[in-house]
Amino acid sequence: METAIRDFVLGLGVDDVGFLAVSDYHSPASPPIESLFPGARSLIVLAFRELDTCESPSPSIAMNGRMDLMEFSRSCNYKLARFLAQKFNAKAMTVPVSYPMDLGDVQGSAGEVSLRHAAVGAGLGTFGRHNIVIHPQFGTRVCFTAILTDLDLKTTANQLGDLCIHCDLCVKNCPANALETPGQTQVMLCLKKSQPYGLGPSVLFWSKFGVGSAEEQKTMLRSEQYRRMYQNQFIGFQYYCFNCMKSCPVGK
Ligand code: SF4
Ligand code: SF4
Repeated sequence: METAIRDFVLGLGVDDVGFLAVSDYHSPASPPIESLFPGARSLIVLAFRELDTCESPSPSIAMNGRMDLMEFSRSCNYKLARFLAQKFNAKAMTVPVSYPMDLGDVQGSAGEVSLRHAAVGAGLGTFGRHNIVIHPQFGTRVCFTAILTDLDLKTTANQLGDLCIHCDLCVKNCPANALETPGQTQVMLCLKKSQPYGLGPSVLFWSKFGVGSAEEQKTMLRSEQYRRMYQNQFIGFQYYCFNCMKSCPVGK
């Protein structure tokens, strides 16, 4: 069964795929898979190589490459879920690269399924000093999606060893100094740099707007900050920093 699924996935143009039994999935911050999909037995993890657009100094070009990847990966997730239902009479649920995610009080901004832990568990990479995953072929330039299914699939053994060469370039090139402590990303520091027009800045903007005079409000709505927030909100999230990804020399 794993071979048929692998062949189907690679035939879609996905770069790599791994399997993980739910009992082998361990993520410290995410809820149990059972709470998302009662009866789930395994995860199929798909790897997508990030485009070279992540190197562009232009945030819109860099983000556009990520959006291309997200759109393609969403289509692959859908096709794979349909394939599992049609070929194996399986139940399948899809997990996206990034959003939508549960932004409620309990979960905060952590994904409901940790795709990093799923990818490492499914033999697709190892954690680097930047706390994201290094794939043996694509290095850090890779994103993951997953399919949760009630099929019994055997976990792909992870025999990769340590792929990080401990050059610390990711730490040095982080504009937020968010990677100073090994094994820990200071998420709030990262978000200020990587999503400067995201939720926090939006709350501040609208709080100020609410108490502003009519003239101040007009000025705020004509500002660059508002225009950037506007685009950010209809894109979903717009990332302005890809430095961890583009600094890492592994797999380049
Ligand atoms: S995305 Fe940017 S700011 Fe966030 S940890 Fe990586 S390098 Fe630092
Ligand atoms: S940039 Fe260097 S230290 Fe950071 S994850 Fe890559 S290899 Fe490891």
